[in-house]
Amino acid sequence: MRRRLVCGNWKMNGTEEESAALAASLLPLLAPLGDRLEIALAPPFTSLRTVGEKIQGSRIQLAAQDLHPASHGAFTGEISGRMLTALHVRYVIVGHSERRRLFRETNEEIGRKAAGAAAAGLVPILCVGEDEAERLDGRTLGVIEEQLLAGIARLPSTGGDTLVVAYEPVWAIGTGRTATPDQAIEAHRAIRSCLARRAGEDAAASIRILYGGSVTPETATAMLSRPDIDGALVGGASLVAESFAAITRAAAS
Ligand code: PEP
Repeated sequence: MRRRLVCGNWKMNGTEEESAALAASLLPLLAPLGDRLEIALAPPFTSLRTVGEKIQGSRIQLAAQDLHPASHGAFTGEISGRMLTALHVRYVIVGHSERRRLFRETNEEIGRKAAGAAAAGLVPILCVGEDEAERLDGRTLGVIEEQLLAGIARLPSTGGDTLVVAYEPVWAIGTGRTATPDQAIEAHRAIRSCLARRAGEDAAASIRILYGGSVTPETATAMLSRPDIDGALVGGASLVAESFAAITRAAAS
């Protein structure tokens, strides 16, 4: 049985003080849900320590939004997996479409980041998803498969405790246009069958596949009541405590 996961991606929002305030308002709302599903918060790097301190002792996990594949070295401005595990980070988002699009990250580089995460003892949340032109061209499943295979290519093992995949159609991220549950399910099934071919049925059955893309309290129930959808990666709505809590409650029920 896969334990559902809801992860809030705060992106580049919030000073350390603002992040602490958001974590403090989330804590009483999320704490009662912690025995029913897994919850993770991905604040900016500069807020990881403070948010980590706020959620210490709760069942909420800490996540990071990116990492460099290497453990250390002359990479000015970068953050390694080793630095993240030292802050008690458990998950790290890799291959987010904003990183792919705005920072030109390639499938190959994302595969190296996922491997760097695994080497540091982190669980990568590997984001995959088609853009609008690719969907209109009928290339959705091919694009997802290509991103997925490159993303996991260097992982030493692929199973429920070592990898999370997030299906995030690019056209749905931050646009208010959520995929329909049927569109998401088609992609999730394709992802799981690709994982099964690569890692075996048992490993594939244990990996959580999240949906991300304009999830709101209004759309969460329809999406998260479907058994193929193991949780959500939430951007904009994760910055409002009551909205993120409502989405998390929908995933828990
Ligand atoms: C995201 O950034 O991963 C995301 C899903 O954003 P939003 O919920 O704002 O679409």
